[in-house]
Amino acid sequence: TTGPQAVLSARGLRRDFAGFTAVRHVDLDVHHGKIHALIGPNGAGKTTVFNLLTKFLAPTAGSIELLGRDITKTSPAAVARMGLVRSFQISAIFPHLSVLDNVRVALQRPGGLGTQFWRPLSALDRLTPRAQELLAMVGLADDRHRLAGDLSYGRKRVLEIATTLALDPKVLLLDEPMAGMGHEDVSTVSDIIRSVAKDRAVLMVEHNLTVVADLCDWITVLQHGDIIAAGDYATVSADERVRVAYMGT
Ligand code: ADP
Repeated sequence: TTGPQAVLSARGLRRDFAGFTAVRHVDLDVHHGKIHALIGPNGAGKTTVFNLLTKFLAPTAGSIELLGRDITKTSPAAVARMGLVRSFQISAIFPHLSVLDNVRVALQRPGGLGTQFWRPLSALDRLTPRAQELLAMVGLADDRHRLAGDLSYGRKRVLEIATTLALDPKVLLLDEPMAGMGHEDVSTVSDIIRSVAKDRAVLMVEHNLTVVADLCDWITVLQHGDIIAAGDYATVSADERVRVAYMGT
């Protein structure tokens, strides 16, 4: 995309696994205030791209910039501290803690992954107002005293997003945030993503094309490790290669 400087950008990203190229050549720009979807059939390389951007995997070739700094050789923990935060597909909440305490514990970890330091929950009182604010933002205020483990599947995923937001990401990577959810939760999570994207950048892997059409400003379509189309939904859904490769029509 053109226009304002991207907050996260990748150029010529490639990753080989023992002779197999999972990601061949990926250019990607993620912008502040925008929701960017990464879509494509199973095995296209979406997870590998996420792992490369968060530095869980080293690229075989290519470069990545975050907020104007080259992070190609930066550690995952340092990248998280700079504001690139990923919400995992598999829930990372503590089921035996209350909803409120889950967010307070998350607020205690300003650096995110790998930098957590633990204190007694009684020392977390000063974090309560911010935790309440985050819970209100995601619609979990009334559930704050329930055990996280007792929440419905959809609300657990929403709580997980709240714990991710506690790290105050500048770029939020979401891995199938609506996977396995019913209509109501999908619409709740869509509203949350729309609202959090107002003052940060969001990059999400999402299989539900109705959600993608409704929510995302920009869509990058991957197949066999290469970008086959990029643009708004109207553009990519009209693309011949996308129709054949992804939608099967
Ligand atoms: P997607 O998330 O789009 O389904 P992935 O990024 O998980 O795709 O995988 C892309 C391709 O890379 C697949 O063919 C997968 O088998 C392969 N792959 C992913 N990770 C590894 C690995 N650690 N070792 C070998 N092959 C891998």
